[in-house]
Amino acid sequence: MAFPVQRPRRLRSSELIRRLARETHVYPSQLILPLFVCPGEGVRKEIGAMPGHAQLSIDNLVRECEECKTLGLGGVILFGIPEHKDEFASGAYSNDGITQRAIRAIKQEVSDLLIITDVCNCEYTSHGHCGLVKGGSVDGEVDNDATLGWLAKTAVSHATAGADIVAPSDMMDGRVAAIRNALDAAGHIKTPVLSYAAKYASVFYGPFREAAESAPQFGDRRTYQMDPANGREAMREIALDLEEGADMIMVKPAMPYLDVIREARERFNVPLGAYQVSGEFSMITAAANNGWLDLDRAILESLTSIRRAGADFILTYFAKLATRLVG
Ligand SMILES: [Zn+2]
Repeated sequence: MAFPVQRPRRLRSSELIRRLARETHVYPSQLILPLFVCPGEGVRKEIGAMPGHAQLSIDNLVRECEECKTLGLGGVILFGIPEHKDEFASGAYSNDGITQRAIRAIKQEVSDLLIITDVCNCEYTSHGHCGLVKGGSVDGEVDNDATLGWLAKTAVSHATAGADIVAPSDMMDGRVAAIRNALDAAGHIKTPVLSYAAKYASVFYGPFREAAESAPQFGDRRTYQMDPANGREAMREIALDLEEGADMIMVKPAMPYLDVIREARERFNVPLGAYQVSGEFSMITAAANNGWLDLDRAILESLTSIRRAGADFILTYFAKLATRLVG
């Protein structure tokens, strides 16, 4: 029986009915705020392409984390900007590194806030690549197997400092197994691994590279991050990470890859995250600042679309702004 008996508009006739019929919800507890921690005291260095976001010294970071807890966010994910960079990313796995110190400070000052740490080398290498670059390589040829040891050491140092979840974002083959083995050997059997399982070589990371000071000095990341044209390959990457012991998986970026999120949701029964990246944030913010989009509605619609595609949680620079719109 179709029209006139069937009238889908009946279920849209008032906000009360629409609310009852709504299929997808976004809650603050599903949102993770990325934060950038830098050396110094009292530092708040604004990021030009990401209005409202800044590199924060540890004292200011702790204050920001208190606010995140008050807002009921699902957690924060930390990116460190070290004092010195070198060829071997030594700042990434130093027990006294910027991220390790930040974790300890947050854990001491803020109770019950989930801390995820990004595990990678690109903020810590002088050349900005995510691993060891072979001598003389000008196209960013990263030595996969030599990089695994750095990642494992970094993950262990984060867990030892108190990180609740470690999240490798480097896209080296075999990194999840290397990290899992190292965590277990160090006694961190309860620390979950959230793998950036399907991370694409995306133009939408542009503003982040200013934020994390991690732009590659030569070449690009296409020998390790995924080709944006590939969806089937994403399923292979995710399956391999799960075999290696990943507890949760992530797709990055989010809005240009909603099909990948949907496919992952249907195939894999583990918590699935999506990263609404800096470029997604900056595009919406710039359009809103020009009066071309309504900011609140754009935030809500973009986050809802990512949830509708199948993501359980979202890493987003809108996390704080969104809490007054959702739930
Ligand atoms: Zn990296």
